[in-house]
Amino acid sequence: MRLWNDWLLALKNIIVPVFCQNPQCGMRLLTEENLFFCPTCWEMSPKIEAPFCTICGKPHPTAVGFGPRGNFPCALCRKQPAPPYRRIYGAMIYQDPIKKAIKLFKFNGRPGIAKYLGARMTDFAGQYMDVERYDCIVPVPLYRVRERERGYNQSRLLAQAIAPAFPRAEHNESLWRTRPTAVQSLLHSHAERIRNVAGAFAVKDTSLAGKTVLLIDDVVTTRGTVTECARVLCEAGAESVDVFATAFAIDNPGVRDV
Ligand SMILES: [Zn+2]
Ligand SMILES: [Zn+2]
Repeated sequence: MRLWNDWLLALKNIIVPVFCQNPQCGMRLLTEENLFFCPTCWEMSPKIEAPFCTICGKPHPTAVGFGPRGNFPCALCRKQPAPPYRRIYGAMIYQDPIKKAIKLFKFNGRPGIAKYLGARMTDFAGQYMDVERYDCIVPVPLYRVRERERGYNQSRLLAQAIAPAFPRAEHNESLWRTRPTAVQSLLHSHAERIRNVAGAFAVKDTSLAGKTVLLIDDVVTTRGTVTECARVLCEAGAESVDVFATAFAIDNPGVRDV
């Protein structure tokens, strides 16, 4: 089967060549390791590794020469009041090729990429998360019109892709988006971002009462969306909410302690 697929891809390549989607690479793809990126680029994807913040999940600047350290809260999280989520986990940094993969996934109608992104999240979960902890996996919902246009909710596909890594957790979609919202990262002020998502989510039944929830999002940028979702989930009686994102958008990877 594998050989046949390789032949099919090779044949397709003669008619319509397939290239690595990493803008810095563009190598021609000749095997079916990954339909969108060459194995070298995909392996070089910017992973998040310990030490990272035990609340916001962002990596601490690497302490060269001090060897591996445990995870601990960053200075900013220590100063701020406790958020409605217990903690955020992010598997990757939002840079190419992951950035390109997520863009293809969300905006170019490539739902198949969920499998590859999910595999990255599963690797991270196996290494850093208590996978037995969660009763429910809840995807961040899209507004129904947006989901109809896109044909799928990317967070649901990610939640399904990583489900085997969380053996106790049931898929739950009682969180829904009550109205459309603007893209958080395009808004300029903190106040605007809070207003944009305030009241945009609701829980439709009591199935999350007393449950330990893992909320799934594709990219965490300003944390406004996941904060509001976690607040609504806790209001609906969830025991605790952890967030698990494919990637964190970190503006300046040189200064990572924010
Ligand atoms: Zn490549
Ligand atoms: Zn932090």
